[in-house]
Amino acid sequence: MAARKPLIAGNWKMFGRMSDLGEIAALDAAIGAVASKVDALICPPAAFISAAASLAKGKGVLIGAQDCSAVSADSARTGELSAGMLADAGAAYVIVGHSERRTQHGEGNETVRQKADAGLAAGLTPIVCVGETRAERDGGRVAEVIGAQVRESVPAGAGIVVAYEPVWCIGGDRTPTAAEIGEVHSLIRSVLSERFGAEANGIRVLYGGAVAPKNAAEIFAVEGVDGALVGRASLKAADFSAIILAHPAAS
Ligand code: PEP
Repeated sequence: MAARKPLIAGNWKMFGRMSDLGEIAALDAAIGAVASKVDALICPPAAFISAAASLAKGKGVLIGAQDCSAVSADSARTGELSAGMLADAGAAYVIVGHSERRTQHGEGNETVRQKADAGLAAGLTPIVCVGETRAERDGGRVAEVIGAQVRESVPAGAGIVVAYEPVWCIGGDRTPTAAEIGEVHSLIRSVLSERFGAEANGIRVLYGGAVAPKNAAEIFAVEGVDGALVGRASLKAADFSAIILAHPAAS
């Protein structure tokens, strides 16, 4: 089986202004030399995708979106952005099912899957987020919750990415232990294999939640971790490049 190319994705959420796009140029300067070994992705707010994509053209940083509509057809949906529009603006990837969308916008597995399908139909690579809450972990429900999310929100599709993001780690300063991360990644991989057979071997499974320069190497060393989805530490090129360069494939 060919090794999966690591993907290290940054989610800027609702942070930043146009003036912060200089971080993308700074990131390229810091990691451009390893771009053939590690995929580096920035998902800025949708308002900046077009400008970010122009800036990143021909460089070592990919640009993606943080969400898309579940509906592909041009239609009367005020404020919605279709996957086709995001692709047109220069996005190559789209994050779907982030826990903030699941909780703040009530998006369930079915909607997440529709969004991932819409992304695939527009030629985008969906990054489907899954993860348990602290209460679900404490209640011994990790396998049940993650299993259902992977079965119900991940569509079949070449190049799709899954991100394991324990909800209780996002935005905080703690991560699960390496053993806990490894257990969930192995669970995700087995559900993917059950569903997609050999095709599952090509699916990258990322870890996300409080990834920082200080813990990146330890997380990347966990078996089955194909990269990271990074929030806060992706906003500054200095931090994000340190995370990317901590990946063994970058050395
Ligand atoms: C995220 O929002 O996906 C995330 C992982 O955030 P942070 O890295 O800030 O914990």
